[in-house]
Amino acid sequence: MNVLVINCGSSSLKFQLMDMNTETISAKGLCERIGDKGSRLVYKPVGRPGAEEVVKETPMPTHKEAVQLVLDSLTNPEYGAVKSLDEIDAVGHRVLHAAEKYVDSVVVDDDVIKAIEDCIKFGPLHNPANLTGINVCRELMPGVPQVAVFDTAFHQTMPKKAFLYGLPKKAYTEYGIRRYGFHGTSHKFISREVAKFLGRDINNLKTIVCHLGNGASICAVENGKSIDTSMGLTPLAGLVMGTRSGDIDPAIVEYYGKEEGLTVSETITALNKQSGIYGLTGGTSDFRDLEEGYMEGKQDFIDAMELFCYDVAKYIGAYTAALNGVDDIVFTAGIGEHSPFVREKVCSYLGYLGVSLDKEANENAKDNTIISTPDSKVTICVIPTNEELMIARDTKELTEGR
Ligand code: AMP
Repeated sequence: MNVLVINCGSSSLKFQLMDMNTETISAKGLCERIGDKGSRLVYKPVGRPGAEEVVKETPMPTHKEAVQLVLDSLTNPEYGAVKSLDEIDAVGHRVLHAAEKYVDSVVVDDDVIKAIEDCIKFGPLHNPANLTGINVCRELMPGVPQVAVFDTAFHQTMPKKAFLYGLPKKAYTEYGIRRYGFHGTSHKFISREVAKFLGRDINNLKTIVCHLGNGASICAVENGKSIDTSMGLTPLAGLVMGTRSGDIDPAIVEYYGKEEGLTVSETITALNKQSGIYGLTGGTSDFRDLEEGYMEGKQDFIDAMELFCYDVAKYIGAYTAALNGVDDIVFTAGIGEHSPFVREKVCSYLGYLGVSLDKEANENAKDNTIISTPDSKVTICVIPTNEELMIARDTKELTEGR
């Protein structure tokens, strides 16, 4: 069974074609600068010796041209992965926001389209792009089932005490203002992978997933279900991130905006794009640069690194309380998977939990790795996230045999 996974951003489209009988990738790539000058497709055939990356610089005024180009490349006689589009059995789409409408992935129909439209107010940058991807695929691949996999769905199991904000009641009942949480596909994937990897029963497991990438969030997972997570109504909340502020005193919006002469909307943009590690260091959000600056003794870089790791450790403490204990803590995504420095610094706060880090395993972690010592009271792991595989698995489960 071949599943095409599509992830549409506002000006980009990432794709992967997966053979779900073997869970292997046949081709992947991305279209960038859609709707702009210099748009191009990068197509990578996978698993065929000698097959080289194909780069096509061609105008893509909208996502429609981008999807068409991806489909043409996948069926190209020279470097394509399938002979015809008939060999693509289903398409899985990453979608940002479904509010409270869906607790799991769903096969797309007109109701689903309407629900994604209704949630544009919560995800004004992502939901319209996600929707375009779905509509274009429906048009170009009639009859092929499309599945929507929502970033918010996994967190719909959170209890009210975890998702309500202390606002006037109508904020929630009339406007839908509540904690939704994001990175759900990653948190779901990791919570299942870690149970498998450790040989534990997922129905009797307390896991804290630290998804530390440019966007970062932490999730408390009890028996396979999200019970709390650090992002909120939008992905701006929670940990300090690459360019996002994370949690701040809400009164700062008025005060900082006034000082800088910004409107509310401009201030929120500043909190999303010019804050976090980028804002604190005065120009970088890349953790490789951050570590380098830290080692060189640059004070702003030291402050930013200390703040980030302290923040992660504080959330782990909070979620250990929420779970009433923790069996395993997992580091994943760009920073979580690749920065032994960050992992060690975070774990240095966790002695009270009986965490004992195996420094050598931490330094050498690759793929799924246990980085705590055998006598550690909590198992610490590094597990690479794979949101595309999770999307493809959900898509297969919902469409196989249709
Ligand atoms: P993601 O959003 O998951 O792609 O993660 C992006 C983040 O991972 C960026 O902040 C990168 O700097 C960080 N990252 C990637 N590789 C490394 C590495 N080798 N060491 C430290 N951070 C890394």
